[in-house]
Amino acid sequence: MKKYTHAWLAFMAIKRLERAEIPANYKKHSLSLIDWFMDNRDFVMQGAWYPDAIIKDMATSHVHKYSSGTSKVMPKRRKLPGEYNIYNIGKETLKDITEYHVVKGNLPDRCDALVHSIVDNLKMQESEQKGSPISPTDNHVATLFFMLSHYIADAHMPLHCDERRFSDGDNIHAHIEKLWDEEIKDCYEIDSDNERFRYDKYGYPLKIADNDLCNWLEQEVVIRKFTTGWGSGNGNTWDFMSAITQYSFLTSYKMIPKEYDETNLTWDDFKNLNTGYNLIDYNKYILIDAIDSIAKIWLRTWTKYRRWLVKSAKV
Ligand SMILES: [Zn+2]
Repeated sequence: MKKYTHAWLAFMAIKRLERAEIPANYKKHSLSLIDWFMDNRDFVMQGAWYPDAIIKDMATSHVHKYSSGTSKVMPKRRKLPGEYNIYNIGKETLKDITEYHVVKGNLPDRCDALVHSIVDNLKMQESEQKGSPISPTDNHVATLFFMLSHYIADAHMPLHCDERRFSDGDNIHAHIEKLWDEEIKDCYEIDSDNERFRYDKYGYPLKIADNDLCNWLEQEVVIRKFTTGWGSGNGNTWDFMSAITQYSFLTSYKMIPKEYDETNLTWDDFKNLNTGYNLIDYNKYILIDAIDSIAKIWLRTWTKYRRWLVKSAKV
């Protein structure tokens, strides 16, 4: 995914926590996270882009690629909460792709590690005296949150989870990500000197135009059911992200059936494939799932820290 897409998804995740119906036992944690985010949002663009611009671990941590081959041991087949579109779409593919295995990438590990790192840094910040040289700043912790949102979002891009090489040939992968970035840039006012969104009076990217994708997503952020669970059988961020990558892979095979690879499919033909959903639907379903996952993981990470605060009687 590209720069503005990553930053915008992070903003939408916070908007979702503010505007959607949050379960009562998470509500106060959600409110304190929104408050904290609004004080530290200015570097969202840099933070959410750090993994691509500076860290550049694309070949390993931005992907978790599966092959549909049957020669290796199958990973545990996981589930996702019922509201996930890629879960419902991916399950349709299981008729054709019954076995699969991981061939490349450690994206779930990367997300899990960042979650631990964020909680550790927040605890250190709380435990150190003001001015301590080892106390992490809020901006530092916010940057870790934005980096985390990058890796979470990448897992939802089906082609990040599919061994077929769609960055070669006509580069369908880049075409899709460019389309998402352009749709977002069309709808929001951008401060191009400083490479960031201008804000509306509520502190979110200022929407100045309409298109079907952004209008639908802005609406869905508010009305889609919000659950804090990882999905049956999943116990933590790693399990959840592993499930996301499995269904992202299966969604890829729905979007691009198994008879195709980079040698026999052009961007124009891809756009007209008859797979039961059109490209506009895929764009909506994938991006709202990504927003939901960022909101869910951020909230659970923040809640872990807040519960520690209460337990250690610091609030
Ligand atoms: Zn990436």
